[in-house]
Amino acid sequence: MSERLLEDVFIKRSQQKKKTSPLNYKERLFILTKEKISYYDYDPEKMKKKGLKGSVDVEKIKGVENVLPEENAPADRMFPFQIIYDEGPLYVFAKNDEVRRQWIHKLKQVVRFNNDLIQKYHPCFWADGIWLCCQQEVKQALGCRVLETPNGGFTNKGSRRKSRKPLPPTPQEEKSSRPLPPQPPPREEGPSAGMTVIAEYEYTPMTEQDLQLRKGEEYTILEMVDTNWWRAADKYGNEGYIPSNYVVEAGNGLERFDWYCKNMNRSQAENLLRTENKDGGFLVRDSSKAGKYTVSLFTKGGGDAPGSCRHYNICTTAQGQYYLAERHNFSSIPDLITYHQHNSAGMVCRLKYIVSNRRCAPSTAGLGYGVWEIDPRHLTFIKELGNGQFGVVKYGKWQGQHDVAIKMIKEGSMSEDDFIEEAKVMMKLRHENLVQLYGVCTKQRPIYIVTEFLSNGCLLTYLREDLNHPSPVLLLEMCKDVSEGMAYLESQQYIHRDLAARNCLVDSNGTVKVTDFGLSRYVLDDEYTSSAGSKFPVRWSPPEVLLYCKFSSKSDIWAFGVLMWEVYTLGRMPYERLNNTEIVEKVSSGLRLYRPQLANERIYSIMTTCWSDKPEERPTFQELAVTVQDLLYELQ
Ligand code: ADP
Ligand code: MG
Repeated sequence: MSERLLEDVFIKRSQQKKKTSPLNYKERLFILTKEKISYYDYDPEKMKKKGLKGSVDVEKIKGVENVLPEENAPADRMFPFQIIYDEGPLYVFAKNDEVRRQWIHKLKQVVRFNNDLIQKYHPCFWADGIWLCCQQEVKQALGCRVLETPNGGFTNKGSRRKSRKPLPPTPQEEKSSRPLPPQPPPREEGPSAGMTVIAEYEYTPMTEQDLQLRKGEEYTILEMVDTNWWRAADKYGNEGYIPSNYVVEAGNGLERFDWYCKNMNRSQAENLLRTENKDGGFLVRDSSKAGKYTVSLFTKGGGDAPGSCRHYNICTTAQGQYYLAERHNFSSIPDLITYHQHNSAGMVCRLKYIVSNRRCAPSTAGLGYGVWEIDPRHLTFIKELGNGQFGVVKYGKWQGQHDVAIKMIKEGSMSEDDFIEEAKVMMKLRHENLVQLYGVCTKQRPIYIVTEFLSNGCLLTYLREDLNHPSPVLLLEMCKDVSEGMAYLESQQYIHRDLAARNCLVDSNGTVKVTDFGLSRYVLDDEYTSSAGSKFPVRWSPPEVLLYCKFSSKSDIWAFGVLMWEVYTLGRMPYERLNNTEIVEKVSSGLRLYRPQLANERIYSIMTTCWSDKPEERPTFQELAVTVQDLLYELQ
């Protein structure tokens, strides 16, 4: 039997497969494995599992979300969630919010590359032939609320080093002719057209077709043409394309305030506040009780004390007014916050400093909707960043304001026509942990490749020079970033072929992103492309690549193990004392890298699973990402 990922006793609601079937609630033991979620009859006295009552195949799951509790729900039914699959939702009630969160998180992880993940769901129950949220009377009716954490991009509930938004959605646009795995269906014509969203970031139009976004303002979605770009209208009637990851669905009206961190739990809030380390730093987040809000506030202790976090629930009076510690009532939450920005009134200090998880805008897929050929006259070159296989890389601005990195491709170093074709595919790859390709300039020589700019540069140099006694958690977070980016590439059946710390970059938050994916196929240099060549990444290659040039996602996995090793040795050269010929010989006969001092046995065992001589025994990136995330949870 497959390994148990989670196991818990929940109350399960009967599924009411027929309109007339009665509703009942029974205690069941739920067991989640990678393949199935199964529930069993359960003897609470003997705490024993009895007969199997039912199961859902993980691959059939289309979504996992919270449900709003019923009105006047009994105490043991306060924390419902739903597992949506082809037969409708399976409703389950967890004991508390923590357990519910843990299950939803885990389930989202295991299903995130499923086909047909839903884009919308019903936030309330289906009961007695009606959806309580939207009053629709067909059980199969499309959801009425857009997912806060869209398909594929399950939110990272782990800590973040610095302020960051949850993962923006990954693209699911229509694909080119590459044989890609089936994707969630394209958004049906306008299921969410008409939805009102609020801009979380400023967006200056990059093309004439784009629409300007002003932070905090409302926009109406007209058409979701592609996952990355939506057509929208502002309140003045202007229409155009906007990056979909710059807006959130208008909900409670708090989205427009920087202090409101919608999808944040207590420990994430504490992490963020501690990272900012500002006395009086605060934010407002959804409380673990549905529909309620909590103010999280950080105060610095005197002297060397590290400071502490307090959490205050925003209470409501019978008349619907809001108050915090003492009874100073306000008719709205923003009014209450404004008051407490000036008065501590019962709290440990006043709310002095807004801590926000949305400081810097995320990257867009391309520089405007549908743009991939960039006019070189719109580029200004500011400084040289380094020199690579294809020549000089420069930092510059696009249209005078957007940071970009520009690779100027030395003539004769790349098979350009093939690359230019491929660039159209690469443009559509978008993930928080991949360096975004913005476009190319191909009408002149040398051609340019224009990408997202990451101010902390190459990961290898960062490991060697910039880290001062990094904690194991920080190192593991770097590995997690890479594993997430690679899991996305793997889901797109895209092989990197040259994964290594030198091909990762670090942004200003310390987030690591993978770059140069697939590029090695276009290198014109035998020293680099031939496995006997001096520039071939022998130290990152598994036996099947060294011996038969067999590249696959599994050879990327091997390289990932070596990259982890680079991270935990702070950038040492793998097999330092051996030359390439010795490495081919020794690695093929079983030699492996040693355990770095900073890596404990668990972490080292992740590396060694990547170095199985049998490719099929190595994990997938999706599995790795889950393992690393779990370990991070444990470490915190
Ligand atoms: P190549 O892949 O052509 O060999 P690299 O990608 O290694 O070249 O680029 C050379 C150097 O330029 C890197 O080591 C890094 O320091 C810097 N660099 C490259 N791309 C970026 C970027 N997007 N943001 C910041 N620095 C970059
Ligand atoms: Mg490179």
